[in-house]
Amino acid sequence: MAEYHWVRGIADEVLSRGDEEIVIHTGKTPSGPIHIGAEREQFICSALQRELERRGFQSRFNFIIDSFDPIKSIPAGLEVPKDFGDHIGKPLSDVPDPFGCHASYAHHFAEEFIGCQGRLGLYPNVIYSHELYMKKEMKDAIRTVLARLGELREIRRKYIQGDEEVNSGTDDWNPVMVVCERCGKIASKKKEVAPNKVDSWDLQRDEVKYRCVACGHEGKGKISDVRLKLSWRVDWTAKWAIFKVSCEPAGKDHCVKDGAYDMGIEVCQKIFGYKGPLRVSYEWLTLGEHAMKTHKGITFTPLEWLRVAPPEALRYLILSVDPMRHISFLPDRIPDIVDNLDRLERIRFRAEAPSGTESQEFLDDLYRICVVGEMPSSLPARLPYRFAVTTVQLGSILGEDKVLSKSISYTEKLNNRQSLSDKEVSDLKSRLEMARNWVASYAPPSLKFKISLETPSIKASPGAEQMFVESVIALVRSDLGEAELQNAIFESAKSLGLDLGKAFKLIYMALLGSERGPRLAPLLIALDREWAVSKLKAVL
Ligand SMILES: [Zn+2]
Ligand SMILES: [Zn+2]
Repeated sequence: MAEYHWVRGIADEVLSRGDEEIVIHTGKTPSGPIHIGAEREQFICSALQRELERRGFQSRFNFIIDSFDPIKSIPAGLEVPKDFGDHIGKPLSDVPDPFGCHASYAHHFAEEFIGCQGRLGLYPNVIYSHELYMKKEMKDAIRTVLARLGELREIRRKYIQGDEEVNSGTDDWNPVMVVCERCGKIASKKKEVAPNKVDSWDLQRDEVKYRCVACGHEGKGKISDVRLKLSWRVDWTAKWAIFKVSCEPAGKDHCVKDGAYDMGIEVCQKIFGYKGPLRVSYEWLTLGEHAMKTHKGITFTPLEWLRVAPPEALRYLILSVDPMRHISFLPDRIPDIVDNLDRLERIRFRAEAPSGTESQEFLDDLYRICVVGEMPSSLPARLPYRFAVTTVQLGSILGEDKVLSKSISYTEKLNNRQSLSDKEVSDLKSRLEMARNWVASYAPPSLKFKISLETPSIKASPGAEQMFVESVIALVRSDLGEAELQNAIFESAKSLGLDLGKAFKLIYMALLGSERGPRLAPLLIALDREWAVSKLKAVL
C-alpha cells in the first residue's frame, strides 16, 4: 500500500470538521532573535495549506506576533544601550528598537523573521497582538472573562495543581492584565516577573481599576480605553474563538494530557462558546544537544540559514520528519541536508530510485511541499553543494570567473547537458555564494583548505611513488567523472602497493602544501587542470 506524507492525515482531520472557513494559526513572541525552531509550526501550517490547496480548498493562515507580551529579560549576547534593562516589564511593542531601525523591539525581531517567510515559501497574514488588543473583539473577550471569572477559575483549578492560591482555597486568580498609564509596565520584575492585574471592575459602567505593581500608581478607566491583556493560556483561547481557528500546532509540552491545550479547549468551549481547533503536537528542533533559547543567546535564525543554504533545504530538514520526532540540527550538517534535498529532487523526477525502505509516494508529497516558488516541470541541473564548497576555496588561484565557469561546466557534465537555463545559472550562482558563506562561518577543519602558491617542498621517492604521481597526472588529464576519478586514484595507489594514507598525503602536499585536504577527486576537477599538473610534476 502506498505510504503518503503525514500532512495528508492532518488535512483529512481538518476537512472532517466541516468548518465554513478553514483557519490555520501559528504564533510567536518576539522576545529576541527568532530561531529556526519556530519554523517547525510555520512549515507544518504551510504544508497543510498546500495540501488543502491541492484538494481544492482555500484556507486562511494567520501568524500572530505576541507583541503585547512583556519583555522579561534581555537575551544574552544582544547589544543594547545602557539602562535598557529599565524597559523590563513593558509590552514588547512599547520597548524601543535597540538597533533604532524599527518601530519597536517587537517589530525589529518579528520583521526580521517575517521578512524571511516569503523567501521560505510561506505567506501568512501577520497580526500584531498589541493592535489586536485594541479591537472590539478582544475587548469583548476581556468583558466575557470578567463576567464569567468564577467559572473560569473553576476550570483552571482542574488543570493547575500545586498553585498556592488554588490549594489555600483563596483563589483570586485573574487573567486580565493592565498596562500602567504612568510607568508603561504590564509586569514588574522583582525576583520574578509578576503581571500587573486589574483589581476591580464594574461591567455595567465598563470600568476597571488597578494598582500598578511596578510603580504603585492607582488608575482606572473604561475597558474600551485602558490597555488590557489576557494572560497567555486565556489569551490563546480567546484568539481561537475570535478567529474560529481550525488548526493550531503546538509544542509537545503544551499538548500533554491536562496541559495548556486541554485547558484551552475547555475554556474555549465553556466560556467562549467555540469548539476549539484541531491540535497538532510537535517535538523540538534543537541546535545539536542544546535547546534553542532566545534568552540564552543560543540561536540560529532563518536569516542566517538563507545566508548559507537554499530555503528548500530548511523545509526539507523540518518536513521530512514526523512532527513528533525530535530534530537535531547543526550548521556543519548543511552539505548533507542539501545533498539529501537534491537526491529527493532526482527521485521525484525518476532520475534515481528510492531505497527499499522509502516510499515513492511519500517522497513525491515531500518534494511538493518543499519547493519554493514555481514547481519545476523537469529535473533542474543543480551544482552539488559539496562541489561548491571546494571550488569557492579555489578563488585565489583560479579567479572568481573561473570558479563560476568551472562550476557551470561541472554541472552540465553531471547532468549530460549542453547548457544551463538562466534560472539554473542564477541558482548555481547563489549556491556558490551560500557555500562561500558556509565555509567562512561553519566548515569543519576537514573541509577547509588553503592553497599554497609555493613550489611543493617534498619529492616523490623513485619507484612506486613516482609512478603513482605520474598515473594521477594521466588521470587528471583524462575526462573522468568524480566517482570514477576518485576510484581510479585509489586503485592506482593500491596496485602499486602503496600505503593509501601516505599516497594521498603526497598528492595533497603537492597540490595544497598540507598533509590533508578535501575529497581528492572533486578538488582535482575543480582545479585548473594545467595548474594541477604543474604542481604534481614539481614533486617528481
Ligand atoms: Zn530594527
Ligand atoms: Zn506603573
